[in-house]
Amino acid sequence: MAKVVVLGAGISGHTAVSYLSRALKKGHEVVMVSPNSNFQWIPSNIWVGVGLMTPDQVKFELAPVYKKMGVNFKQALATSIHPEGDSENEKGFVTIKYVSKENEGKEEKVTYDYLINGTGPKLNFEATEGLGPNKFTQSVCTYDHAAHAWAKLQESLKKMENGEKQTFLIGTGHPLATCQGAAFEYVLNVAFEIKKRKLSHLADVWWISNEYELGDFGMGGAYIERNGYITPTKIFTESILKEYGVNWIKRAGVQKVEEGKVYYENLRGEHHTKEFDFAMLIPGFAGAGMKAFDKENKDISLEVFAGNGMMKVDADYTPKAYEDWKAEDWPSTYQSVKYDNIYAAGIAFAPPHGMSKPMESPNGTKIFPTPPRTGMPSGVIGKIVAQNIIHSIKVGKIEHPHTASMAKMGAACIVSAGYGLFKGQAAVMTVNPIVPDWEKYPKWGRNIKDTVGVVGTAGHWMKLFMHYMFLYKAKAKPFWWLIPE
Ligand SMILES: Cc1cc2nc3c(=O)[nH]c(=O)nc-3n(C[C@H](O)[C@H](O)[C@H](O)COP(=O)(O)OP(=O)(O)OC[C@H]3O[C@@H](n4cnc5c(N)ncnc54)[C@H](O)[C@@H]3O)c2cc1C
Repeated sequence: MAKVVVLGAGISGHTAVSYLSRALKKGHEVVMVSPNSNFQWIPSNIWVGVGLMTPDQVKFELAPVYKKMGVNFKQALATSIHPEGDSENEKGFVTIKYVSKENEGKEEKVTYDYLINGTGPKLNFEATEGLGPNKFTQSVCTYDHAAHAWAKLQESLKKMENGEKQTFLIGTGHPLATCQGAAFEYVLNVAFEIKKRKLSHLADVWWISNEYELGDFGMGGAYIERNGYITPTKIFTESILKEYGVNWIKRAGVQKVEEGKVYYENLRGEHHTKEFDFAMLIPGFAGAGMKAFDKENKDISLEVFAGNGMMKVDADYTPKAYEDWKAEDWPSTYQSVKYDNIYAAGIAFAPPHGMSKPMESPNGTKIFPTPPRTGMPSGVIGKIVAQNIIHSIKVGKIEHPHTASMAKMGAACIVSAGYGLFKGQAAVMTVNPIVPDWEKYPKWGRNIKDTVGVVGTAGHWMKLFMHYMFLYKAKAKPFWWLIPE
């Protein structure tokens, strides 16, 4: 009889809990600890941010779904992990603090046999002065942020309808930010909505990014097959931005925001500003900020987590030069380096190295994208971690028959670029593997047959189809497990 505790009801944690609860029935216990009472399908927040969906269309209440699954749901934040237990508990436990109305502020120790950390990113707005929806810029990282962004965007659209010019600035809000794909999708949707309203002549739309070249997306860019030609994602991305009338600033590390003004440094070490009326800038990401303690209550956080707060797993973290990193340095089981019964899935695991080349300005400012972990790998990792735990419980010892290295796994990314059954468009990019493997694929870094890019209406339909399909799966409706991650 085993107790599995999952932290974080996001893409990775919710996927894990779904498979665990399906496989572990009588006598076993599956617990989910997560602060939000809702699940949200984050990719569709882009559409909330341009008013094409409401928050209610991208979220649903977790409690009834977990009741149906037989999962013990605790609406709470995990604050610390105690893998060796303490004087009262033989077993490892997690300290949680409830945020639900009934129990707000109450603390509890939740013991476990297996623990999955799926706490995703902390949206680190504080790392950039003036950044974030409570300050001077917008975000689409949560449905609340996206709804706020849409309210602000409407103010700019209204001003343009009254003949006033507006400047839009969309991209990354920290020199080391990741998630360029989401910001890129948002800038295209904003440009599309402006054009749809025939207001383009009054709009100055800008993309700002910490990428060395556009199309890097934190994966060091890619070579893709497009219409029978091999094209770098730089050309692919620039041509789409041109088509949408978007200008760009690259190699830019945003350092500070004031009302209507962004301050950034570029890789030449120059300091510039860019004025805006509306800005949506993705913050830096960090780990959820949990601490770890040993049996004697000694703080062992630095052994369990990397410096950015993400959990260290079965990766090779030995410091090496960028040119010496290898695909096999990437983890495949996501087991904690220190404790066999702890795993980290999705954005919560610490990547061993960047995929984009680290760059520094003459002033020593590091300006480059950190590696993304998008929805598809996050879901797949959540699933294999759950499968390995289910297997280990069944055989009575920890074994990992299932693996999922991002250096072996492919991923598809659909960047919607306008909404509507006939006018909607999307750029579809597939890469295989996600982490380039220059030893296996010395010419292009990836398998060029599976690394493609297309733009068209079919992509928009696929994105819309995925929205409904993944929400169906997340609600654990009949035969949900047949839908791939
Ligand atoms: C606007 C936007 C659009 C995107 N579009 C795409 C896309 O089109 N395709 C794609 O593949 N990817 C996309 N992504 C990326 C995708 O959303 C992430 O890869 C994915 O959500 C990561 O899953 P996760 O489970 O690691 O984290 P999350 O989904 O962020 O889940 C983390 C969960 O942990 C909870 N949590 C946080 N702290 C604690 C704590 N201390 N204790 C307990 N729980 C905690 C959070 O509340 C949350 O529920 C997009 C991201 C953004 C922001």
